[in-house]
Amino acid sequence: MNFYIMTLFPEMIMQGLNTSILGRAIERGNISVNAVNIRDYTTDKHGKVDDYTYGGGAGMLMQAQPVYDAYLAVQKMIGERTRVIYVTPQGKTFSQEMAKELAGEDNLVFLCGHYEGIDERVLEEIVTDYVSIGDYVLTGGELPAMVMIDAIARLVPGVLHNDESAATESFHNDLLEYPQYSRPEVWRDKRVPEILLSGNHAKVDEWRLEQSIERTKRLRPDLYEKWEKRQIK
Ligand code: SAM
Repeated sequence: MNFYIMTLFPEMIMQGLNTSILGRAIERGNISVNAVNIRDYTTDKHGKVDDYTYGGGAGMLMQAQPVYDAYLAVQKMIGERTRVIYVTPQGKTFSQEMAKELAGEDNLVFLCGHYEGIDERVLEEIVTDYVSIGDYVLTGGELPAMVMIDAIARLVPGVLHNDESAATESFHNDLLEYPQYSRPEVWRDKRVPEILLSGNHAKVDEWRLEQSIERTKRLRPDLYEKWEKRQIK
């Protein structure tokens, strides 16, 4: 899967995504991350990409022209029209379900705003999805784009070593994951639950499901309600 990120700070994206699991997935060719510098496409001779907003108000706005020309260049690289996600606090809140759906695409384009955001006219022309990472405002779209790319990329086949781990993690089936333990068996007088040492896989699975249900009910009653409704159907 190929990610294209339109941004004014490409180095932030490349540094942020090029380590650990995603770094290795890039090396193996499971995913590619291509940061495109919007500033490279401005026709302003001083390299300007922002200007004052009509009607007044604080802050600068990213102009339509450089964003549109960067978009045309990305489309040319990809060779077909693809979804363009504008990361914005005004969008639909990102979720695991959305990550799963987006992981089915071959190519995805992310558009990162900065300053006060981006001229509405170019958004109307190119954006297919408006997505937020939560109800708070950040200085730029780079961190939200990285959050979304990380969550999507780990669902791309081959990115995680053990395909099972994505299937048992939190939000799969609307449940949070059960508690987990590693060596030693006793740490600061706390013992690992006996069942996990029993070697009885069926009993371990049963215990884990019970723990997941209890934990979801306690920590995320909203999610628990969703899970419970699906059990009744
Ligand atoms: N003036 C905009 C508003 O009130 O909706 C906020 C602009 S924000 C300071 C600059 C950029 O950061 C946005 O264009 C967007 O790309 C990104 N951004 C900020 N908060 C975000 C969030 N919660 N989710 C996704 N992107 C966000």
